[in-house]
Amino acid sequence: MTKQDEQVCVVKGWQAGPVIDESTLSDDLTRHFYYTLGRDVVGESQLYLYHALALTIRDRLVARCRETNQQIKQQKRRKTAYLSLEFLMGRALGNAVLNLDLESQVTKALQAYCTELESVEQAEHDAGLGNGGLGRLAACFLDSCASLALPVVGYGIRYEYGMFNQSIEEGNQVEQPDNWLREGHPWELSAPEQAKRVKFSGYVQSYTDKFGREHRQWNSSQDVLAVPYDVPIPGYKNNIVNTLRLWKSEATDEFNLTEFNAGSYSEAVAQKNLAEQITMVLYPNDSSENGKELRLRQQYFLSSASIQDVLTQWIEQYGNDFTEFAQHHVFQLNDTHPSIAVAELMRILVDDHELDWDQAWNITTKTMAYTNHTLLPEALEKWSVSLFAKLLPRILEIIYEINARFLAEVAMHWPGDVQKQRDLSLIEEGGEPQIRMAFLAIVGSYSVNGVAALHTQLLTAGLFKDFYALWPDKFNNKTNGVTPRRWLAYCNPSLSQIISEKIGKDWIGDFAQIGQLRRYYDDPQFHIKWQQAKQQNKQRLVDLVKQRCGVEFDINMLFDVQVKRIHEYKRQLLNILHVIHLYDRIRRGDTQGMVPRCVLLGGKAAPGYMMAKKIIKLINNVAEVINKDPQVSAFLRVAFLPNYNVTAMETICPATDLSEQVSTAGKEASGTGNMKFMMNGALTIGTLDGANIEIRDAVGAENFFLFGAQAEHIDDIKAHYNPSEIIANNPDLNSVMHLLESGHFNLFEPGLFDDVINGIKSNNDPWLTAHDFASYIAAQRDVDKAYADQTYWTQMSILNTAASGSFSSDRTISQYCEDIWHLTPLDTTHQTVKTNTDTKS
Ligand SMILES: *Cc1c(COP(=O)(O)O)cnc(C)c1O
Repeated sequence: MTKQDEQVCVVKGWQAGPVIDESTLSDDLTRHFYYTLGRDVVGESQLYLYHALALTIRDRLVARCRETNQQIKQQKRRKTAYLSLEFLMGRALGNAVLNLDLESQVTKALQAYCTELESVEQAEHDAGLGNGGLGRLAACFLDSCASLALPVVGYGIRYEYGMFNQSIEEGNQVEQPDNWLREGHPWELSAPEQAKRVKFSGYVQSYTDKFGREHRQWNSSQDVLAVPYDVPIPGYKNNIVNTLRLWKSEATDEFNLTEFNAGSYSEAVAQKNLAEQITMVLYPNDSSENGKELRLRQQYFLSSASIQDVLTQWIEQYGNDFTEFAQHHVFQLNDTHPSIAVAELMRILVDDHELDWDQAWNITTKTMAYTNHTLLPEALEKWSVSLFAKLLPRILEIIYEINARFLAEVAMHWPGDVQKQRDLSLIEEGGEPQIRMAFLAIVGSYSVNGVAALHTQLLTAGLFKDFYALWPDKFNNKTNGVTPRRWLAYCNPSLSQIISEKIGKDWIGDFAQIGQLRRYYDDPQFHIKWQQAKQQNKQRLVDLVKQRCGVEFDINMLFDVQVKRIHEYKRQLLNILHVIHLYDRIRRGDTQGMVPRCVLLGGKAAPGYMMAKKIIKLINNVAEVINKDPQVSAFLRVAFLPNYNVTAMETICPATDLSEQVSTAGKEASGTGNMKFMMNGALTIGTLDGANIEIRDAVGAENFFLFGAQAEHIDDIKAHYNPSEIIANNPDLNSVMHLLESGHFNLFEPGLFDDVINGIKSNNDPWLTAHDFASYIAAQRDVDKAYADQTYWTQMSILNTAASGSFSSDRTISQYCEDIWHLTPLDTTHQTVKTNTDTKS
């Protein structure tokens, strides 16, 4: 391309932008650093260098993103909109460098600044727009969709404040706001011209059109603007770049016109805050609902803006004819959080485009698909009818209409069974009638899926059994997965290197190939390399734990790790009881066969979840007592890592020997942390819960440390549960309880852990901690035995990585695509963007 060509600007826009390839990366970096950002010295933090590098790479993403979108549009592709209130993305730089295959060029370019990628990366804030597993799943899915060249757009909220930052003060969790945008977010591009209006409040009126048909109209609403910010999502070395579209709320200019006209100019402008509040903060509750009005506003804001966006694009291309809309679109609802989209699509089709109810319903129920994430009753969303009436009056009417027609269907299926109609109604009657959002999602969707085999089975046999009886074909399982790019190739370069030396590099894009590693599980030379990689990774974690917790871990000890949100069902408490048990044994001199361990726990508690916060305090107090006892430190060290997030996990999972997945059976829908650890060669100690079951099936029972009650027996156990008796009959547990009850870990804070202790001793303990203690301790003894034989352990470690092929989110997304979305992959060969390989030849 000549200089002149570069300047050709065709009326319809750039046909081909300036060349960006290998040869220009260094220059682009310098140009962005000196001119876009106006800097000339690299500061201590390398913040501006990071920004310049991000902009340099974004240029390359934007070029590919444009082509991806053109292809989707020109070829009239069927596509999926993935709606999620959470996307827990973490950092983007390293992932983009990996997926665009720019590592050597970036390394070269950074040499001019006397630094390297690993150091520049530290300046990037995590995009923490999610709580935990559900939000991280959405992020892994986006990576897999792009890598499989599937036309999928993510829709979410651009929270001004993401997941809070956690620090630990005197053993207690303290929350700090996560102002992640303060230093700028170089990856996003806003598109204010594509803003959408979202209605709130007001009232509904009837009118008759010129054909004499009755319509409803939502009037005098207080509208809020939804402004899109697009984040590019690169596929793995395939030139595809998809989009994550995040909505920011803003005031419309006429927001307070009346006040403005009354002369209250500043007051009117100040009212803008109300509109901007909607996307101000992520609700920090994982697996529980809080029923706050602002949260409902967020849900409707996301659903409405995203549906409008898809419909606007449809109308631009096809006009006002919706007959083929359902052939071209799927909306995948990540839990019930965006389930109001069912009613919103109906509203827009019926009210704005004047479709018949039946036509609109036909389209809606052919485009909506719902993923359930939990069976925990406290997480099942319900919104009061009165709140809906106030905030979303027209949506409430539509839900009533959906319900009336649905209950007629129920009456046909179960004639005369009035109780069945009450049980299945979208409206739960009572003092304060509530809308059951999961029921709305099921009724409005053509697909309902759980996230692991056991979870789906429990859904269809329990919570949703009547819906399953009505529509068995709607229900399906899609076991979760995690992306092997971020969670192995990127976060564990030393292991990736030795894997690639054996089986080539193709496993990164085709993770089923990881199974070939099995051939080397017995190879002594490979063992040495495998162990060396683990030791290197452990050293990185040692440094992190030293820096963040002030605790000295030792790479020659077993690294026993449980990191995840703090929740009673996840049973961090059971883990800490084992730690106390080990401490008790060491003090008694009973160290026969004991393998020295470093135990790491980490995770955030929802700010209002008192028991979870108490468990954090207990972990910290136990850690303090243990770590300052010189008699114990040769055998046991304990740390609580503050502010567990995606970036921390990137250092943690490669260094872990033992992955703790100890939830009460039937409570963890799938888990994905379990998969990250497995990929990185950790062995799992776990219950038969969620995807643990499938992990154990894949790797073989002999390579997994199983313990605990099974889901099918839980009800029986609860029926005559007597923990006091269990404690009395188990000297190990008795001793642990005695230490706790004597105040050994709260000498200056009497009574501090009474709630925790009483929970364990309660006949109604839903988590069955005392019940599972003995088998947990026994499994931990098996762990010690296995670890003592390093050859045996290394074999099992290799076999775990080798068996992790089906826990790639590429597998999960292929199944969504096959069974639910029915998308065809985009063409990855005819891209005009210059790639490395193009320019090399
Ligand atoms: C993977 C991940 C989770 C989910 O962990 P589970 O053990 O499945 O609960 C939560 N938070 C972060 C930061 C993660 O990376």
